[in-house]
Amino acid sequence: MITVTKTYLPPIKEYIKYVEEIWKSGFITNHSKYVLSLEKKLKKYLEVKHLFFVSNGTTALQIAIRALDLKDGEIITTPFSYVASTSSIVWEHCRPIFVDIDPGTLTIDVKKIQKAITSKTKAILAVHVYGNSCDVEAIGKIAKKNKLKIIYDAAHAFGVKYKKIPLVNFGDISILSFHATKIFHTVEGGAITTSDDQFAHKISYMRNFGHNGEESFFGLGINGKNTEFHAAMGLAILPKVKTFISRRRKLSKLYDEALKRAKLTRPGLFENLEYNYSYYPVIFESESELLRVKNSLNKHNIFPRRYFYPSLNTLNYVKKYSCPVSEDIARRIMCLPLYESLSKEEVNLIAKLIIASQKEVS
Ligand SMILES: *Cc1c(COP(=O)(O)O)cnc(C)c1O
Repeated sequence: MITVTKTYLPPIKEYIKYVEEIWKSGFITNHSKYVLSLEKKLKKYLEVKHLFFVSNGTTALQIAIRALDLKDGEIITTPFSYVASTSSIVWEHCRPIFVDIDPGTLTIDVKKIQKAITSKTKAILAVHVYGNSCDVEAIGKIAKKNKLKIIYDAAHAFGVKYKKIPLVNFGDISILSFHATKIFHTVEGGAITTSDDQFAHKISYMRNFGHNGEESFFGLGINGKNTEFHAAMGLAILPKVKTFISRRRKLSKLYDEALKRAKLTRPGLFENLEYNYSYYPVIFESESELLRVKNSLNKHNIFPRRYFYPSLNTLNYVKKYSCPVSEDIARRIMCLPLYESLSKEEVNLIAKLIIASQKEVS
């Protein structure tokens, strides 16, 4: 069976070394040795001033919205993402205002943001979808002009750089997901990054119940902590991420080559990007074409995924907005299997099956 992704697990001996140390110390959570060490290493890797390792990417988003005080406000966001980027907004009692995506890069269309801003708008929550950078410079200018905060959902963008700067350095706050399906993972986990000292101060309390010492509280908080076991997984995997990215790059190029004769297109990458090859999305001519290819791959035990479907502006708990580009793309896009241990033969087989299933009908 070939699935859209396959979680990398380090050789068990490498992980056990950490587990033995955890047993010796007796400390398993509450910001102990490995959590602190992972945070330090991630800060260095991502060249960011403040980073908080938290329980998952969704909690990271919710804490980010709280830390920026956006409650009851409108947040401009993209309809083309994983559901968590919208559900967090609603969960935190804010209103998502959907702005359609750019048909080329599939990130929020910066030309359409200004028109969506009202007196109630408090922030822009944009997503570097598939690890492709939003137009961070244009978004920065719009936010400054209209006094809005910016949150970037960088769940897919671990290790991506724009003009040589790691993407998580843009905006007021960025969040990352370290879920098992992401390119760098800690089983479950995530992070909040910021270069602002005041936001960082707030977040540091918020993710730990608001505790300020044992018997005093700084303010409202939640349990956003993560454990030594999860940090250990991160420590075991982090040194390998560069190799993962170059392996995925090779496999992506191979797909490009093998799919030359297939009837599909690929989203474009933003300029000046060092990409992480976290996904391999392909866009078909129609939804029926996508479904035919998907079924045919499924018959061969190959399971691509419809990332991201449906378009989030159609969810039953949001105010309806028309986002024709996102709705159209969401119906026609699918991610092909891409992970470190995928073989060249498997890539070629997948491409061959796609082309064959398209020939059957034409
Ligand atoms: C995975 C993901 C999240 C949520 O992260 P979790 O760690 O699973 O909570 C948020 N946004 C996007 C775009 C994601 O892909």
